[in-house]
Amino acid sequence: MVPYNTMKWGVILMVLFLLTSLASFQVRAESETPKNVILMIGDGMGTAHITLTRILSGELNMDQFSAGGLATTYSNNNLITDSAAAGTALATGHKTNNGVISQSPDHRDLKTVLEIAKENGMGTGIITTSRITDATPACFYAHTENRDEEDAIAEQLVNAGVDVILGGGQSHFLQSGTEGSKREDSLDLVNEFKNIGYEIVSNKSEMLKASQSPVVGLFTPAEMSFELDRRAEEPSIAEMTKKAIQLLNGKREGFFLMIEGGRIDHEAHANDAAGVVAEVKAFDDAIGTALNFAREDGKTLVIVTADHSTGGLTLGRGTKQWYDPELLRSADISFEKFASLLMEGKDIKESLAEHYGIADLTEEEVKKIDDVVKTKKLYDIEAVIGGVISKRTNIVFTTTQHEGSAVPLLTYGPGAFGGFMDNTEVGETVNELLAGEERNIFSRLMERIC
Ligand SMILES: [Zn+2]
Repeated sequence: MVPYNTMKWGVILMVLFLLTSLASFQVRAESETPKNVILMIGDGMGTAHITLTRILSGELNMDQFSAGGLATTYSNNNLITDSAAAGTALATGHKTNNGVISQSPDHRDLKTVLEIAKENGMGTGIITTSRITDATPACFYAHTENRDEEDAIAEQLVNAGVDVILGGGQSHFLQSGTEGSKREDSLDLVNEFKNIGYEIVSNKSEMLKASQSPVVGLFTPAEMSFELDRRAEEPSIAEMTKKAIQLLNGKREGFFLMIEGGRIDHEAHANDAAGVVAEVKAFDDAIGTALNFAREDGKTLVIVTADHSTGGLTLGRGTKQWYDPELLRSADISFEKFASLLMEGKDIKESLAEHYGIADLTEEEVKKIDDVVKTKKLYDIEAVIGGVISKRTNIVFTTTQHEGSAVPLLTYGPGAFGGFMDNTEVGETVNELLAGEERNIFSRLMERIC
């Protein structure tokens, strides 16, 4: 028989052991498991895009991160990814084929980090400056074989239970026959949103007044305006970010928020260097908003990355080692808007001087622009204007499409990670941080203690 004293000390030691291991677990969990995760994706944002923005705008919020690295981008069936396959990698941790939204190459649905966050009782939000049904945001809440099925993607968003939805792309939510609708059926998804309790906001001032979730704000029929052309009634990406954080911050189990700078890609497709800089700067302002919150909060992981780089943006070309970005400061409208002015018949020389600060156009350049404007082909006009500016800055685009190099990865806060990773490893890491047993035990413990 064990003497009473020995047994008493045995029990005390065991309790002490349990308490210390619990305490050490708590320290580890607290330092490594974020309560909130904000994933920010600069669509098409390569390292040259960031470098050029820093040269013209000065220090960036992206310079403040404590950890990071690079992420590879290739998809399951192409060395150059599209946003669907790359978004799937970031949202699910799995490679798939270009064009596929969060399904495997053999079309099985893959669980997304947003779905995992919801299962764990967390708040969720999706923000984009593109269409909310565009590939990158869709990868977090929808599953389809083809990214072009935006009617179906819109339906899936209504049923996904996302608390905060802000961006562009009303047209796939409007009943066919109504003005601006692109739906092919008679579903009225705006009404569906209302029926299940969403507050609908349609401009910046309504968004700023929103005080609780669920809320949906789709501010434009298609993509939101390019930053260079943005109208006062459209919120900036930083304003959307601030509002989403404000609405989600009260959630007891924390929140997962995905923010896409969706139009960096579009300006790079247009080979519009000043436009790229404006979009990256606006995205960086949103990063500043997220980072300020994370600094004060201390329980939020902020991840900044890209799905791929677009345009093959190169700072310098040819045999001489130089580039000069100063001219880009003169740009006051996007190539898209500029091309529409030329197609309306505006004078080529006067317009280039007024909007891009180019006063030394050669007769040969004027003729080239005049010829391409007559074709009325937007992309061709943009490419010619891009060439005229490149000649003076030595900042060039090598493609109007995506390219295959690795993209930046920046992380800040509890659970910050880095290294040279595959994009699926980024998705897997977010997945583990949101799904991990540690998180569940930790949040249950905190619930009891607080
Ligand atoms: Zn693209």
